[in-house]
Parts: sequence; structure tokens; C-alpha cells
Amino acid sequence: MIPFLDLKAINAQYRQELINACTDVIDSGWYITGKYLEKFEQNFSKYCGVKHTIGVANGLDALILTLRAWKELGKLKEGDEVIVPANTYIASILAITENKLKVVLVEPDLNTYNLCPQNVQKAITEKTKAILAVHLYGQIAPMPEIMNIAKEHNLLVLEDSAQAHGAEIDCKKVGNWGHASGFSFYPGKNLGALGDAGAITTNDDELAEMLKALRNYGSHKKYENLVPGVNSRLDEIQAAMLDVKLAYLDKETEHRRKIAQIYLSKIKNPNIILPLNDINAEEYKQHVWHLFVVRCANRSALQAFLSENGVQTLIHYPIPPHKQQAYKEWNNLSFPISEQIHQEVLSLPISPTMTFDEANRVIELCNQFK
Ligand SMILES: *Cc1c(COP(=O)(O)O)cnc(C)c1O
Repeated sequence: MIPFLDLKAINAQYRQELINACTDVIDSGWYITGKYLEKFEQNFSKYCGVKHTIGVANGLDALILTLRAWKELGKLKEGDEVIVPANTYIASILAITENKLKVVLVEPDLNTYNLCPQNVQKAITEKTKAILAVHLYGQIAPMPEIMNIAKEHNLLVLEDSAQAHGAEIDCKKVGNWGHASGFSFYPGKNLGALGDAGAITTNDDELAEMLKALRNYGSHKKYENLVPGVNSRLDEIQAAMLDVKLAYLDKETEHRRKIAQIYLSKIKNPNIILPLNDINAEEYKQHVWHLFVVRCANRSALQAFLSENGVQTLIHYPIPPHKQQAYKEWNNLSFPISEQIHQEVLSLPISPTMTFDEANRVIELCNQFK
């Protein structure tokens, strides 16, 4: 069987280093907000090219707390509008509704699955205060255009970088484009902990201070509380695991890119639409291939055919947020492009431990599919 993602094999590559790091934390006698978190935060800041990283409990909290921090700092208030792509993972949307901000869904670009600058422009009203730019499937959103729009209309930009650690445009990585950026280190993400973890990156000192307080009961000094915060901390063991794995992230990304390149060059089936990729040197770096997503009008047949032949695939995602029961009030809205994406997408296996033989087998099957 060719698995979609073999986490056991991924982490086995670093088994001894992970055990050593874990042992160091156990022996340190200090398990929350200590030197391992500080070290990971510094190394991740360096990796992204930003001033601050603030570790939190998971990626959803990274997004929720950033919007919350902007409310505490008087930059956002309840009812302000936030523009977000309609085809994103539900977590992006939850971060907005959790803060009682107004979700403004916009259709993505069908070729990239990311925000379309023209659609963002059209959705701006006098109540618009922020854009949540999601780097879906591992591909950076068109950040130069989005930042220009934001500047023109005085909007905040929060990146959802949960799927795109290390993707870049013009040598500038995700996490360093917007006013802040939320990352997830869920085990299956490109940089994955061995449990839940997340972080915010920013170059804004005031925001970083507020986030450090918010994640820790709203406390900036022991037993003194600035704001009514929450408990959302990245613990020492997960920080130590992440610090081990961060050193290998670029190497893993390069392997993902090689798998993607052979898929792109060898899958030749008019019924299967491949991700758009011109593969010049510049565009190569825009994608870190968290997922390799194809589209097929007869998706269920393609998925069944691959499964019968031992290839595991997944769907990211089967139901758009506006069709979820959780958001009943939007069920009548219509976003034809997003709906088409949700009906047609299929994610082929791609991972740092996938072999070229496995990729060639997937290609062979895709080319046989009728
Ligand atoms: C995974 C993910 C999140 C949430 O991260 P968690 O760590 O699972 O809370 C947010 N946004 C996107 C786009 C994601 O893929």
C-alpha cells in the first residue's frame, strides 16, 4: 500500500535526536515556557526572517489570539469585516467568528486555490478591517498584490501559514508578509510536532507583547494580568521536538518538490487537472507542497480506482465552510468556484519519505484511469 502520509516513518528518521531532546527536557525539571520554547522561538524567527515568534498550543489558537490581540490593542472591534477565501479550512473561519468579527467569504482563483486580488478588492467596504490570507495546500498567496491592497485601504493582514512553512516570494517567506501570521505544527503539517503546537510570527513589538500575555492568562508579569487571557502555551517537550525537526525542514521540502515535479511532468491524463506550475526558478519556491491536489470531474471514480490499486488519497476538503451545519446561516449562499473545488479535488500522496518508485506507481495508475 502507498500511504497518504507515513508519520511514523517521517519521525523515525530523527528518532535518536528526538529521544535525546525529550530526555533533556525530562531531566531539566522545567516543562512550560522555559529555555526550549525560547530556543525554538528564536530559531523559527530566524527561519522565517521575522523579529518575533510566539509559541501557542495549536494553529487555531494562533489565529484566534492574533485577532483577539488586535481587539485588545484597539485595532479591531466586534462586527468589523474580515475577508477570507471561501475554500479555506474551517479553522481560518472559526478564528474570525470566535472573535465576533464578520466573515466576508470571497471566491478563490480556480488555478491556484488561493485568494484572488480582484475578488478581495471587490469585497472591500467601509467596514472591512482585515484580510485573512491563507496559503492553501502549501502555496503562498499573491502577497505582493494583497499587501498593496491592504496598504491602500489601511487593512490588517493576517496570514494563515498552517500549510506553507517556508514558501516564499522574492526571497521573503510566509510569516513575514502580513502584519502577523499563524502557524500550525499539527503532526501532519510540513513542520509537525509530536502532538499539538502552533505559533504566531510578527515584526510588531506591541503585538508580540500582547500575544505573550494573552497565551498565559493575560499575564505579562507573574501574578499581574493585563487582559483576561487564556491558557495556550507551547510546552517544552513539543518545542524541543520542533527544534530538532526545524533543522531538516528545508531538506524535506526539497524532497516534496522533487515528488511534485515528477507528478507534474509525468501525469498526462486529460481527465486529471494538475496544479498550475510553470516551474521557473522563482515560482519553484512559492510552493512547499503540503498537499498535491488534482481535480477530476469524476473524483469518486478516480479515488476508488487508486484505492483498489493500493494508493491512499484524501480530500481537502469535501464540504465548504458555508455549507457546514456549524454555519447554518450561510447555507443558502452560493460560491460556485469554491463548490466546484470541493466537488473535484483529490490529494495524491506526497511526503518527505515517499520514494520515487512509489510516485511512479501513482503516475502509472493516474495515466491508466479513464
Ligand atoms: C491545520 C490548519 C489550521 C489549524 O491548525 P491546528 O494546529 O490543527 O489547530 C488552520 N488553518 C489551516 C489552513 C490549517 O491547515
